Amino acid sequence: MGDDLIPPSQLSSANDDLNPLHRREAIERLEMTHLDVLVIGGGVTGIGCALDAASRGLSVAVVEQRDLASGTSSRSSKLIHGGLRYLQQFKFGLVREALSERNLLISQIAPHLINQVDFLYPLRNRGERLYAGLGIGLYDLMAFRGSNRLPHHKHLSRRQVQSKAAALSSRSHKGAIMFSDASVDDARYVISVARTAAQFGASILTSMKVTNLLTGNGRVNGAVVKCLETGREFDVSCGTVVNATGVWSDDIEQFAGADRPRVRASKGIHLVIPKDRVDLETGLILRTSDSVLFVIPAGKHWIVGTTDSDWQLDRAHPAATRQDIDYLLTTLNQILEAPITTDDVVGVYVGLRPLLRGDEEITAKLSREHAVTSSREGLVSISGGKYTTYRIMAQDTIDAVGVDQGRQIPDSTTSKIPLIGARNYEHVLGSANEISESSGVPLVSVKHLISRHGDRIDEVLNLIAADESLKALIDEDLPYLRAEVIHSVRFEGALHLEDVLTRRTKISIESWDRGTDSALLVAELMARELEWDQSRIHSEVEHYLKRVESERSSNTQLDDQKADTSRLAAGDIRESFA
Ligand SMILES: Cc1cc2nc3c(=O)[nH]c(=O)nc-3n(C[C@H](O)[C@H](O)[C@H](O)COP(=O)(O)OP(=O)(O)OC[C@H]3O[C@@H](n4cnc5c(N)ncnc54)[C@H](O)[C@@H]3O)c2cc1C
Repeated sequence: MGDDLIPPSQLSSANDDLNPLHRREAIERLEMTHLDVLVIGGGVTGIGCALDAASRGLSVAVVEQRDLASGTSSRSSKLIHGGLRYLQQFKFGLVREALSERNLLISQIAPHLINQVDFLYPLRNRGERLYAGLGIGLYDLMAFRGSNRLPHHKHLSRRQVQSKAAALSSRSHKGAIMFSDASVDDARYVISVARTAAQFGASILTSMKVTNLLTGNGRVNGAVVKCLETGREFDVSCGTVVNATGVWSDDIEQFAGADRPRVRASKGIHLVIPKDRVDLETGLILRTSDSVLFVIPAGKHWIVGTTDSDWQLDRAHPAATRQDIDYLLTTLNQILEAPITTDDVVGVYVGLRPLLRGDEEITAKLSREHAVTSSREGLVSISGGKYTTYRIMAQDTIDAVGVDQGRQIPDSTTSKIPLIGARNYEHVLGSANEISESSGVPLVSVKHLISRHGDRIDEVLNLIAADESLKALIDEDLPYLRAEVIHSVRFEGALHLEDVLTRRTKISIESWDRGTDSALLVAELMARELEWDQSRIHSEVEHYLKRVESERSSNTQLDDQKADTSRLAAGDIRESFA
């Protein structure tokens, strides 16, 4: 890794295990001490702010109403990219900044979590080769300025395309351009940032909802929080509240008296399709009438997305309609030799983009840039932005906290802080064979673990050394080990069954049964750690099964309103305890 990184000896010695003990201690801290910063929202932006603040020496806690990354940050296209289509909108600054972040994240900050992905951009006519070639050439050039590690684009003939993408019908293209970008498991990334923030002393609290803000002397100076596990409410005192709640941003602003809406929610859905259903060696990017469609490789699957439409219903449970699904399949089928049908779709997920409000009617044209604002002293809000640029967003936000508090705080150092698991990743990867031999865990599983835990693979292997049965798979068709369930609770803050099935793993969208067959096994493993009795195991499983049923039902509805109603039928497991 680079020489300019912060050496491990300069890290705080705080424990980075997110578990029930961390939670208990964090609640005590929130009740007893005055914090420099209270961050609301445990998505990539809020957790990024916590790391930025803690690593500058500020005392900080994050409160998240549900689970880490349970909002938009687990439902994105999972690309760490400059956004080729923003070049078409002449957003050169945004693209340059995002490409420079992409290069930093893939080379230094999280090389274990971020992977190169290659895309084919099929050309519909010969004239497009020049136009698209210039655009993609400019994209590469901008990345080059930011010390690019990814290969440059290549022009491919029709025949070359056929050998890389046999699934494409020969009528659908006149050759293609191949270029490279990067992808990430978005939920896993947030959890790694959260543990890194904890390493610097940040408190990370999930199932903790802000129900109001506190004020004094004309400033916001704290918040009322409600624990959704127990129903208990208490006050938290702090210097500045950071509002990093994505599509919920305006709710927090309203607590402070602001009434002008600033964020608009735009729905995007994705389909998950097994790799063997579409014969491609690389991803695809296709131009549509007002946006683009991606086919992105993700392990044993393709992710196909996305859509872009206004959403004004329940923000915690956005739903995909039959119409959304048909749109993606129809668009993709226009270029495939053998069409894909709904029977080929393993999973569907939906996210809401927190877009800055503008005058544009069509959400695809609204800005992907971010804005840091302070409508009232003591409250700093960060809205808009992209996953890829979360680190810059966090840096700008904590700079604004310094201004709000009228004090000089050290500059951000997050560009020099590798996430946990990153430092000795290359070395661990090079030792995969030896690790497999010494631990008795199959090589394929060792590689899977390294790609998710980096140099922290020992945390999982130690669990297996203590209990051999934990090296078995949860679902025979997916790579996740039973030990990873225990690890999710002991190290990664999972509190409920759906936290493990949908965010610590992606079993809920990668298995044909959507995780229902694994639910009882996973709940029983979690019960060992969280001291659940039979009735609690039963209620966790029941709730999960209901959630899957309601999701399936919403996918067959034709309009948003009906799909939302179907989706809401399951309720929220967290609210049911409070
Ligand atoms: C379909 C889609 C595809 C995308 N693809 C990409 C991509 O490929 N690349 C890219 O760079 N970006 C992408 N994005 C954008 C990116 O995902 C988002 O910008 C990013 O995840 C937003 O993160 P956030 O932390 O701001 O919001 P969120 O992840 O939504 O986090 C906000 C959190 O605040 C919590 N919260 C709300 N109210 C309260 C309260 N009162 N108390 C406590 N907690 C509260 C919520 O529960 C939530 O977890 C995509 C977005 C969508 C929707």
